[in-house]
Amino acid sequence: MEKPGVVTVVDREDPTIVDPTDAVISIKATCICGSDLWPYRGIEPADHLKMGHEYVGVVEEVGSEVTTIAPGDYVVGSFVISDNTCEICQSGFQSKCVHAEFVHGGIGTQAEKARIPLADGTLVKTPGEPDAEIVPSLLAASDVLGTGWFAAVGAEVGPGKTVAVVGDGAVGLMAILAAKQLGAERIIAMSRHPQRQELARYYGATDIVEERGDDGVAKINELTDGLGAHSVIEAVGTQESFMQAVGATRGGGHLGYVGVNYDVTIPGIQLFFAGIHTLGGPAPVRRFLPELIQLIWDRKIDPGKVFDLTLPLEEAAEGYKAMDERRATKVFLTTD
Ligand SMILES: [Zn+2]
Repeated sequence: MEKPGVVTVVDREDPTIVDPTDAVISIKATCICGSDLWPYRGIEPADHLKMGHEYVGVVEEVGSEVTTIAPGDYVVGSFVISDNTCEICQSGFQSKCVHAEFVHGGIGTQAEKARIPLADGTLVKTPGEPDAEIVPSLLAASDVLGTGWFAAVGAEVGPGKTVAVVGDGAVGLMAILAAKQLGAERIIAMSRHPQRQELARYYGATDIVEERGDDGVAKINELTDGLGAHSVIEAVGTQESFMQAVGATRGGGHLGYVGVNYDVTIPGIQLFFAGIHTLGGPAPVRRFLPELIQLIWDRKIDPGKVFDLTLPLEEAAEGYKAMDERRATKVFLTTD
């Protein structure tokens, strides 16, 4: 991304092994993330950023200290580089690893190849060469599915719980899928978009609420005997959506928030009197990858349906435009 709004596809030098813990991978599929729209819209700075942080591919070469993957392995990566051995990683928060580095910006996986540092701690190999039909699902695990899953775990979703999901973008839809897998009894999707409502129901939503803000909170209360939801997932990141999520959570309930919330100000007193648990931030996708890959491999979940536009990498600029204009929920980019 040369500057906000300007995406070009250019030839870069092939990556090579620099550190003994690196791997060089040939990227088989990649995609555009909702968070890529922040620099695209100028909300985050953009000056020749190497874009892309979601990726699946085949290992071409590894450094001398890499032990868990080898050339030829098919791998799914996480969007934050992690060693997976430090105290923070071992507690399950690989996105806050002491050696954390974002793939976005400096590495960039909207590309044919990438050098992945700390390969053992960042990449997870699949049981074998995947069938083409599950590649989109494996790619979704790299961020949106892992992020939706983290939000659901953060919101303590489980059997018997009523879950409200604020946001019907890719992450919100994946949070619905996660809530269903984690055994939620009732899943309320907050969405106004007919096609996304349909996908929300496909992934397990039992109710749809179209109201927003205070009206949305009132509707959730109405559906839960005035108590609010046990578990609320915030997957948008605006002032209105965040406060809607806080308001929809019952006293003692749990809020998982994964919408990147640049312009949100949370009034301390509202959070104080809400009396709720909160957990959010960049998802430690690496924690969930082994389990998510297996669920996809066994055809138990189908997160790949979240992609609704496929383009060759060369046409990435059109993909950004389509997502910016909300003509596409999530764009799949092919590399061959
Ligand atoms: Zn670590």
